[in-house]
Amino acid sequence: MKDSFPIEKFKTVKTPFYYYDTDLLRKTLDKIKSETDKYGNYHVHYAIKANANRKILRIISAAGFGADCVSGGEIKACLDAGFPADKIVFAGVGKSDWDINLGLDAGIDYFNVESIPELEIINQLAGEKDKVARVSFRINPNVGAHTHANITTGLAENKFGIAMSDMEKVIEIAASLQHIEFVGLHFHIGSQILEMEDFMVLCNRINELQAQLERRHIQVQNINVGGGLGIDYQHPNEVPLPNFEDYFQTYRKRLNLRPDQQLHFELGRSVVGQCGSLITNVLYVKQATYKQFVIVDAGMTDLIRPALYQAFHYIENLSSNETKETYDVVGPICESSDVFVKAFGLNRCHRGDILALRSAGAYGEAMSSGYNCRELPKGYTTEDLA
Ligand SMILES: *Cc1c(COP(=O)(O)O)cnc(C)c1O
Repeated sequence: MKDSFPIEKFKTVKTPFYYYDTDLLRKTLDKIKSETDKYGNYHVHYAIKANANRKILRIISAAGFGADCVSGGEIKACLDAGFPADKIVFAGVGKSDWDINLGLDAGIDYFNVESIPELEIINQLAGEKDKVARVSFRINPNVGAHTHANITTGLAENKFGIAMSDMEKVIEIAASLQHIEFVGLHFHIGSQILEMEDFMVLCNRINELQAQLERRHIQVQNINVGGGLGIDYQHPNEVPLPNFEDYFQTYRKRLNLRPDQQLHFELGRSVVGQCGSLITNVLYVKQATYKQFVIVDAGMTDLIRPALYQAFHYIENLSSNETKETYDVVGPICESSDVFVKAFGLNRCHRGDILALRSAGAYGEAMSSGYNCRELPKGYTTEDLA
């Protein structure tokens, strides 16, 4: 699969940088569309925190997707990239007044509200503008997910959402507030989830909650199940697309939707993860006492996932077909956690070789920082390097 990279072009661009295979991105979007079209009432909002690169956003908005934002800045980026305001939803435990006002002024579809104090502030700010804010309640379903502890979000111990025991109370409060319209329930149990079982457990919980509300004659227009579908970091070449078919079917089979109820999804990683690679240059190959280090010019400031969540990214040496050797691939940052992978087999490396860290399209460029006074990595698409 090395041939699919424009390696000659890569040599003309300053490393490190992100490369986005837009053919794969379009293929992924087409697959999501064909799968969701089967059902009619499924709507996908791309979670833009996964990758807010303007070129990526434009492709996703042009494909007709909505957007899921977690800050006012993200709402701005979405509007700028052509997402219609009425397809934008807005979550987050700590929305500032500025964020909320921006959402109200833009006329977003709804706010995913995570606490009673937040609901009261949205009511007050909407009142000052003589508007009615549409809100959905993010319920913490106390459902675990088989993923890294730092990316589970649906357990009672996590900071996200409103406790299930407060659900009816909060809906009651909403009904009493003049500038609030209650439109739905929202859930998001975590990220990089590969076991459909985890989503089934969420479906069962939602079924229970809906039954509970129906006994009180409370109607819910839409159910938003968040995102979380994982990608295959081990096999980016063999499994470039996540199993969307299974994923959407799981909800069809397990979730009891009422007639006319709409089902919203907020997919991030599964949309953009596999289309991105971090391209980096080998600076030095260093023989240490017990091992060999490949020191590259990309670091945790460009791709923090390995340092932050012990995440694995498959690496290819695009410049060499020599016998594989075992290396630790590390960056130049002054932190011991600035390690991309340990004891990994790469075609024999030399100074100047170009490496691709695969599956880096989600939570890569978006999480980059300027630590050590480093320049932020740029992102280039297939078209940019054609
Ligand atoms: C991060 C996030 C998502 C997207 O999660 P992925 O695992 O990237 O699909 C969806 N909804 C909310 C509320 C989020 O915070």
